[in-house]
Amino acid sequence: MHNESTKTLVLDGIEIAVTVKSIKHLRLVVHPDGRVRASVPLHTSQAQVDAFLRARLEWIRSQKERLEARQSKMILEDGSVIQLWGDDIRLRIITGRNRTRQTTAELVIAVTDPTDQRSIDAKLTNFYRREVQAVLPDLISKWGDALGRHPSRVSLRAMRTRWGSCTPTTGAIRINPALAAFHPGCLSYVVLHELVHLTEPGHGPKFQSLMDKHLPTWRTVRAKLRQGDGSFLSHPVGGDKLEPSPENFPVGGLRNRSND
Ligand SMILES: [Zn+2]
Repeated sequence: MHNESTKTLVLDGIEIAVTVKSIKHLRLVVHPDGRVRASVPLHTSQAQVDAFLRARLEWIRSQKERLEARQSKMILEDGSVIQLWGDDIRLRIITGRNRTRQTTAELVIAVTDPTDQRSIDAKLTNFYRREVQAVLPDLISKWGDALGRHPSRVSLRAMRTRWGSCTPTTGAIRINPALAAFHPGCLSYVVLHELVHLTEPGHGPKFQSLMDKHLPTWRTVRAKLRQGDGSFLSHPVGGDKLEPSPENFPVGGLRNRSND
């Protein structure tokens, strides 16, 4: 039996999720995405909770500002340069409701408010998603045929910390649409990597020899992904420069951040 309960308080415009639980002291956390959570011992009065939180409002605010500044270090605006399949491409932000479209050297994103970063981010993420979606089926059949193993399910998921993942028991693989920013060889490598996991869940000698057999240059491609300056991805996948360290990632996944 547990006797936790959570309610949301709003103090000076800041939402705080307050959970009552059997702990000894009040606790306060500001999460990387800006959410604020407080844990309070059972039988703490509302007045005590309020006093505790009000005394720390300045701290909460400064934490949120610091985290938000980190999240938005790359502002996407008209004229920004982004990457598409490893090439630089200029972003044009226009006002309107048109579908995102690509010309030879530009990606045109239409939003109702050109200063609305969230809409721009969402449209760019959707564009990357469609780009990956367009080439993924061919890659899956190419590598699936080569390995003699096909996934039961393939989905695109904007994961914060992984380029791809595989659940060998169900045969499902997930691919990060942010790979559309990198050289196409990177997506191909990640697809092969995850499909190899269908037969070889770890990253040991058997995994490596299958990779060597089907994509002898895989270590070079992996290095490209590691070196790729991911700062332009700070919106689509959030946070720090992407530094995959495949030797250390957990079974079934390629990490793209080493310090999360
Ligand atoms: Zn892996």
